[in-house]
Amino acid sequence: MSNQILQAEANIECDKCKVKLTLGSVKLDYLGSSFPVELYKCSQCGLVYVPEALATGKMKQVEEALEDK
Ligand SMILES: [Zn+2]
Repeated sequence: MSNQILQAEANIECDKCKVKLTLGSVKLDYLGSSFPVELYKCSQCGLVYVPEALATGKMKQVEEALEDK
């Protein structure tokens, strides 16, 4: 599921820098926990693109990371 989200959004650009976001490990704070996830981010300003599914807590990757704790 999460792979589909990432593939669909593989061509996002940073609004500020106009460069393509690249996939990388990002530390995410979610529900009081902090853990690394693979997200698209801007290599210039560090902006992280948070997919809507993740923002609304429906990303499978997040649920799995929380369950691992
Ligand atoms: Zn940027």
